Amino acid sequence: MVRKIVENALSGKLLKPDEIAMLFDVPLFSYDSSLIQSTARQVCDKACGSLAEIHAQIGLNISPCPRNCRFCSFAVCNSVFSGTEELLIEDVVARAKGFESDGANAIYLMTTAGYPFNRFIEKSQEVRMSLKPDTVLIANIDDFSENEAKRLKDVGFTGIYHAIRMGEGRDTTISPKKRLQTFKNAMEAGLLIGTCVEPVGSEHSTDELVEKTVITRDIKPVFSGAMRRTPISGTGLAKYGQVSQSRMAHILAVVRLATGYSIPGNCTHEPNVVGVSSGANIIWAETGANPRDTEKETQQKRGLTVEQCRQIFKEAEWDVLSGPSRFYGNKRGQHMPMDFDYEQSISN
Ligand code: SF4
Repeated sequence: MVRKIVENALSGKLLKPDEIAMLFDVPLFSYDSSLIQSTARQVCDKACGSLAEIHAQIGLNISPCPRNCRFCSFAVCNSVFSGTEELLIEDVVARAKGFESDGANAIYLMTTAGYPFNRFIEKSQEVRMSLKPDTVLIANIDDFSENEAKRLKDVGFTGIYHAIRMGEGRDTTISPKKRLQTFKNAMEAGLLIGTCVEPVGSEHSTDELVEKTVITRDIKPVFSGAMRRTPISGTGLAKYGQVSQSRMAHILAVVRLATGYSIPGNCTHEPNVVGVSSGANIIWAETGANPRDTEKETQQKRGLTVEQCRQIFKEAEWDVLSGPSRFYGNKRGQHMPMDFDYEQSISN
């Protein structure tokens, strides 16, 4: 049965929730798990025209956040950071230009929830003006209104990163409905969406993995994928430990098969060779603040450089796109690479 489902995914058929669940439940290191991961790699390769991408994020600020997502180091309840700090605009611009010259395919500006929206727009404007016109800029910020979505578009963002996280409304104080509304507001404004199944913990059920996978498929993003939760020492969720990279490779492979060819990207975080070998074609470089780090400057601890990401892809035999992101460059509904041959994919 598992082999038939995998075959269907390879041939471009949309998987049903019970079929996705069956794939998630396949034991690790079995023949079927290897089949899922190797097929996910094939689907991934075809969906992106064999070119992986490196996206790079700048965390603009640190501020204790009252939204209290239990997995985030900025959450007030986790008591990691007490003060408020913010990168100077000159610094943000320098880091963005650095990522651009290092060859990042898209640059993300991230803030904590509650960061003043007008200030974010002002800073984004400066960054936008300092970059080449075709460099792809993405916002990763708090939930926003329809009007704010238009302002993000007007200032030069191509898209957003946004997610209905694992445990949304249970391990966070934000309702899934609110997160969904933000997706809608972004789409109305013509912003493209990157998302993923995150942050995955060992306690999460197959049902929740399936639910979140289907949500990421239904919103028609430019990429989905899967990220594990980083345990922040001394916090409530730390007792669950961390899902292994091997297990995450299986999970992101199932997400890849479930989301199909019309969604070209499949990300994983944090970057690792086994993940990109098994069906992830986007990984992130990071600088500045990071919700998974306890250091103020993540490049001194968890954050990787563009070059380190390039090496990870190289170890997994991926070529990396040169130039602006094709995932975010494509128009909604036209994600299929020009050279994608459906008939060919079946006969392979
Ligand atoms: S994930 Fe975002 S909204 Fe949640 S606590 Fe962290 S900064 Fe706040």
